[in-house]
Formats: sequence, C-alpha cells, structure tokens
Amino acid sequence: MRINKLISGSLIAISAILSCTGSGVYEGTGQDSATQEKFLTYYEQNNFDRTPRYAQTVDYCRLLAQNSRKVNFASAGTSPQGREIPLIILDKDGLTDPVKIRKNGRSVILAEAAIHAGEPDGKDAGLMLIRDIAIYNKYPGILDSVSLLFIPIINPDGHEDFGTHYRINQNGPQEVGSRFTAQRYNMNRDFIKADAPETRALLKLYNQWMPELFIDIHVTNGADFQYVSTYGLDQCGYLAPPMQDWSKNIYEKELNKKMEESGYPIFPYLEYTSYRDSASVLLPSNFAPQYSNGYAYANNRVGLLVENHIYKPYKERVQAAYQILLHSLEIVGQNNHSLKESAARADEFSARTYMRKDSLTLNYIHDSTKFHMVDFLAWRSRTQTSDMSGALWTYSDRTAPVTYNMPYVHSYKEEDKVSIPKAYIIPREQLQTIELLDIHSIKYTRLEKDTIMELVTYRFHNPKWSPRPYEGRITLETGYSQQTESVKCFKGDVVVHTAQPKIRVIAHMLEPKSSTSLVYWGFYNSYVAPPTEFWISLSYMEVKGREMMEKDPVLKTEFEKKKAGDKEFASNPRAILQFFMDKVREGIEADANRYPVYRSEQ
Ligand SMILES: [Zn+2]
Repeated sequence: MRINKLISGSLIAISAILSCTGSGVYEGTGQDSATQEKFLTYYEQNNFDRTPRYAQTVDYCRLLAQNSRKVNFASAGTSPQGREIPLIILDKDGLTDPVKIRKNGRSVILAEAAIHAGEPDGKDAGLMLIRDIAIYNKYPGILDSVSLLFIPIINPDGHEDFGTHYRINQNGPQEVGSRFTAQRYNMNRDFIKADAPETRALLKLYNQWMPELFIDIHVTNGADFQYVSTYGLDQCGYLAPPMQDWSKNIYEKELNKKMEESGYPIFPYLEYTSYRDSASVLLPSNFAPQYSNGYAYANNRVGLLVENHIYKPYKERVQAAYQILLHSLEIVGQNNHSLKESAARADEFSARTYMRKDSLTLNYIHDSTKFHMVDFLAWRSRTQTSDMSGALWTYSDRTAPVTYNMPYVHSYKEEDKVSIPKAYIIPREQLQTIELLDIHSIKYTRLEKDTIMELVTYRFHNPKWSPRPYEGRITLETGYSQQTESVKCFKGDVVVHTAQPKIRVIAHMLEPKSSTSLVYWGFYNSYVAPPTEFWISLSYMEVKGREMMEKDPVLKTEFEKKKAGDKEFASNPRAILQFFMDKVREGIEADANRYPVYRSEQ
C-alpha cells in the first residue's frame, strides 16, 4: 500500500517517502457501477452544485493515490493555520522526482485551484480529470510525454472560511471559501514579494520543478458574455521571445481550437469600454510577475490564467475547466519537444539580456491605434425600469445571444525600459531581499573582502506613499536620480550576476520602476526618509550656520552669492536656515535617500 497520509516537511523528503508504488488495481478495468460509485467525487455526488471541504478533498486525493500507481499524494507546505497544502503528482511511472521525470523526457504542468478560495472550479475539475486518467484510463497515452502537478486547494485556510456569505453573485456552488488567506493576503498579487507562507511554499515548489506550463484557475466578476471561460496568456512581451512564440503559435492556437470543438469557446481575458457598443475597444489584459501567470513569464515559462465567468452555472464552469486541463495535457504532450526546446532557448536568451543595448521592458501599455476586428460572443442587453428600486436597470438577456464585431488591440507600447547591469550588489544586511533571492532560486555570490567599488546608484526624490495599505503594504512611488559613485562594500555583500535565466525576476524585484519592485512594496521605505538628525531643530542653524561659515570661506561665499542673487531666498528665514541644515546633512548622511541596491556595470 502506498503511504497516503499527508506528510509535512520538505519536498525532497516527500519524494523519497512516496517512491513506493500503489497497487493500480482499477486501472483500465472499466467503469462498473461499484467502481463508479466508489470514485464519484463529492461534487458529482451532490448534483454538481457543492464543492468538497478541505478534509473531503484530502480524502479523495488519498483514495486516488491508493488505487493508482500513477498518483502520488504529498504536501506542498503548511498553511499558517496548520493545514498541509495538498499536492497530487500524476506521472505515467509514478515518479515524484522532477529530475527523474525530466530524464524520462517528460514536460511538467503545474495546475492549481482555489488561490482565491471562493473560486473552486479547478479543484472539482482537476479531481475528476485525474480520476478519469489514472483510475479509468479514459485518455490512453496522455501521460506519455507530460506529468501533472495538481494542487486542488493552494489557499486551504481561506478555503475553510466556508459559507454562503462569500461571492453572493456567483452561480454556485452553494458554499465557498474566502478570497484571502487567513492572514488576509491576496496570493495572486504576492508572487514577487512573497508575504504569505502559502506563496512561499508555492514558489519553492515552482522553482524546484520549473514547470513548462503553470495553470491557475479562477472565477471572474464583471461584464456578462457568452464565454464560460476567458484566459490570460502573454500578449505583450513579459515572456521571452522564444517561449512567447510557442505560447502564441502553438499553445494558444491549439487551445482555442480544441475548446471550440469541445463546445466551450474561449476568449482572452480583457477590459473594454462597453461590449454593447460596437465602437468600443477590447483590451486583452497584461500580467506582470506579481500575478501567477506573470510569474511564469518572468521565469521564461508559459503561464495560463483561467477566468471562468461568475454568472455561468457551476457545472458548466467545472466542465470548461476540465476541458482546459485535459487539452493542456494533450497539447503539451504532443508538442513536448518544441516546448522544451523553446524553454531552453528562452533561458539562454534571457541570460544574455544585459549584453543587449535595448535591454529589458518592465511595463507595457496598450497601443490603441493598432487593432484588428474580432467576433465577440455577447448577450443583447435590455433596459427596464425596476419595480424594486425604480431605477433604470440594464441587464443581459441570456436568451438573446449576439455576435459583435469589435476592435481588438494587439499591440503594446513599451514603458519603463531599463538597461540591465552586469551585476547587482546588495549589502549583506538586506536580509529580507536576500531571503527572497533564495525563495526565487536566484543565483548569487558574496564578496570575499571589503572593497571600494565604482557603482551606479539611485537616489530617491519626490517619494509618495500610498495613503492606505495596499495588499498589506504601504506602497511607494518615487522618482530617482542615477549617479556613479564610490561605494564602500563589505565582505559578505551579495553579488547577483545578471547573466542568468531568472534575470526577469531579478529586474522586477530590484529595479524601482517595476510595478512589483521591492521598492514599490515598501521594503526600502526606511531608506527613502532617513531618520538621522531629525531631532536637530532648525533654529539651531542660527548657531551652526555662523560656525560653518567661519570655518569654511567657500561656503560663506556660496551663501552670500545665493542671498544676493535670489530675493525670495533672502527674504525667507526658514529657507536660509534650511540651506545650512542641508549642508549639515550632506556631510553626515552621504547615503541619504540612496537605494541600498547598486548596479555594477562592469
Ligand atoms: Zn480569482
């Protein structure tokens, strides 16, 4: 018998423990009624309108693992409330080690559900699909060239905050969990800063396995249309070109075709001005690396965001998610060779980024001047006076499907381009940043002795903090100047060479202009407003200013010239005292407002 109990601890240990194999008695033995009964999921047993709790989900994962040698069940980590994060490893030979799986030539898909735990579609879809593959052998050969890591509940604490009070506009299941983790983190903004322990567990798993495709399954609110599922794939360039080609020309095309054939046509996840107005514009959404699929792009891998539509019945949504997972396994399996080659080329391309003049784009915006027309499957809208509120009420008439021909933007302007230095230097005391380097599996070395280096530095100016926390953090938007200066570096300071495949993750962490930089998330707030010397009263400059001019004739001349040439200054006592205060601070705060991450250009 396989060890089917959840095992905590590191994944390496789990792989070793779970290497024993199951009996596999049900594989290929058909679907007699007793077997069918035994392997019905909770969702199927409950009229396709209820989703299992955490314990029931774990029990079902164990049942699959006990009855198929292809299924192994493990823990991907522990939530803050002490729940193990369930992980199914589905592999043709029952392998659980990424190195061995890759040795056998297979690609890896990581699929997760319930990151926003009120959106459980992927959980019920994935459990049925794994049953159909591993127990019923419904899709023979599907695992020949691909293995699946499946996390039915990545946010287990949020999932168990369960009831009818969340997502009241969602068309089933009857009860669901919350959007956030128990610590109130939204994991799908957390992929770079990694505040939530659940995110950290996921990133460890991700970086250990480096899945060629990462699928994250959600449910979206908002405007109503016919599509059960919309999807996010890189459209603009967050993903390195060799992999973007594969994503666009093979995966996206094939997935669209297969979903259409399955009766669930899909459309890119988008924003638009009005879907009822044929002159409005469709803008496919972009995803920087704080999002799950954006994180995959930054790692030179394909990331698929699935957004099922909240108004569609739960059964339809689960069915669509099932088809997306199934077709993704088929497409990756059938294109395993080109996928792996694209991943290798994208890694190699990214590692050369700093050597190219054009370097790296951190953010993209739509170029609305470049579009083509597409057919968009909408509902006709109706307006009537509400008998409840008396207001004019516009709603979708779901008995009246309509196809609008609409402009679809397919081009992007590059914003915030940065040149990539040869290396970033991070002082040894920046423990949080260095810890994140480890979490993201970024390679670095340490200086072996104290040394003075010529480095490019950033100095912040015009900092603006958010008036209230966003995602639990007081965020910072700041301008900065760039200068070359001699910086005293110390033994143990970290050197991050940029000639490595993860340069996109590195740049988004360390370049302040990125929408998900550590500067933006407030990791360096204390360096933007240094506390030193704030206790000196401005009026003390009446004493200190005189003393300074007496000692320094050059300063005296500078002051007198400024006073003579600048009437406003000369008539403002506060500005005069501040002049001397600034000089004092220049002397004692050489590092004032300096971002303590430096760029080595050679
Ligand atoms: Zn969501």
